Amino acid sequence: MIYLDNAATTRMSDGVLEAMLPYLKEKYGNPSSIYEFSMQNKKVLVEAREEIARALSCEPSEIYFTSGGSEADNWALCKIAEEYKDKGRHIITSKIEHHAILHTCKWLEKQGYEITYVGVDEQGIVKLEELKRAIRPDTILISIMAANNEIGTLQPIEEIGAIAKAQGIYFHTDAVQAFGHIPLDVKRMQIDLLSASAHKLNGPKGIGFLYVKNGIRLPSLIHGGGQERGRRAGTENVPGIVGFGQAVKEAMAAMQERTAKEQELRDYFMNEVLTRVPYARVNGSRMKRLPNNVNFSFQFIEGESLLIMLDMQGICASSGSACTAGSLDPSHVLMALGLPEEVANGSIRFTLGQDTTKEEIDVTIEKVAELVRKLREMSPFFQE
Ligand SMILES: *Cc1c(COP(=O)(O)O)cnc(C)c1O
Repeated sequence: MIYLDNAATTRMSDGVLEAMLPYLKEKYGNPSSIYEFSMQNKKVLVEAREEIARALSCEPSEIYFTSGGSEADNWALCKIAEEYKDKGRHIITSKIEHHAILHTCKWLEKQGYEITYVGVDEQGIVKLEELKRAIRPDTILISIMAANNEIGTLQPIEEIGAIAKAQGIYFHTDAVQAFGHIPLDVKRMQIDLLSASAHKLNGPKGIGFLYVKNGIRLPSLIHGGGQERGRRAGTENVPGIVGFGQAVKEAMAAMQERTAKEQELRDYFMNEVLTRVPYARVNGSRMKRLPNNVNFSFQFIEGESLLIMLDMQGICASSGSACTAGSLDPSHVLMALGLPEEVANGSIRFTLGQDTTKEEIDVTIEKVAELVRKLREMSPFFQE
């Protein structure tokens, strides 16, 4: 199998599994209990929180563990909206957010909030002028992702942080694709809230966090016990948190080297395919892009068909985000780029991982070239 769907999820690293195992087996104590057996588990939570805080340049007390990226996104949006509704009921986001943001915004609209969805340029970068123009006296939150999950584009987070700060508006970023892959600094970038998830950086599934800058009033989304300093109830996912801490440690230590390796493979992959396959394009900026993301559109074919044929060859890719896979609606991200529907439908995403090799990319290039040719031969619209 050649796994090129690391934006959907990643393989847990061996080190992460190793770190977690004791907490899935003998060290099962509840961190809230007061005997020594459980107190050890309280200590590892502190350590994981510190590891994560270092990676973001924030305080450990600003990290709140959640069940994943979706919960962190829901929490940030819904509860900032609720807490600051007297100031205003207007939120700004982008057209290319993950559904964890967009569907939360749809729900907020039903609750009487107004959402402005800022567009992106043809490179897939949020239009800052449009964002600035969208700001109103009643705007309470700007939520723009750090890196896009479909086309990998890196958004101008630092500029947006400065804009939000100057206007006294809170700034949330969905950094699920970015965290552990590119450097993030919440102070320098003036980020007030940030979502991340372990399974996108070789950690376990079902654990994420929301960074909440000290001083921001954010009511609980999950009510119950006093865990996470009274802000997120529920017995801590100790193995998950330990695994997350280890994944962050590994990601931060390897980031430079890994970025260089992935970028080289990514650019090789893109250039080879564009050279060998006619009527192909790369979606999203070539420069402002995650090191591991490759997204193509091939005219005259369905991305979905290519995906299935690649799967039969043992190659895993994606024709949109995992959430839209299975439905044939064109991706909202590709539509936001201004692609015609038939081009958007011919799209496919490959996301490399820390285990991806040049040999795997070579096989994939061969297969893509061959299968696109085959599919076009079957297409009534294609003439050489
Ligand atoms: C995967 C992803 C999410 C959802 O995270 P989960 O931990 O799977 O809930 C949110 N936003 C982005 C950009 C993602 O890629």
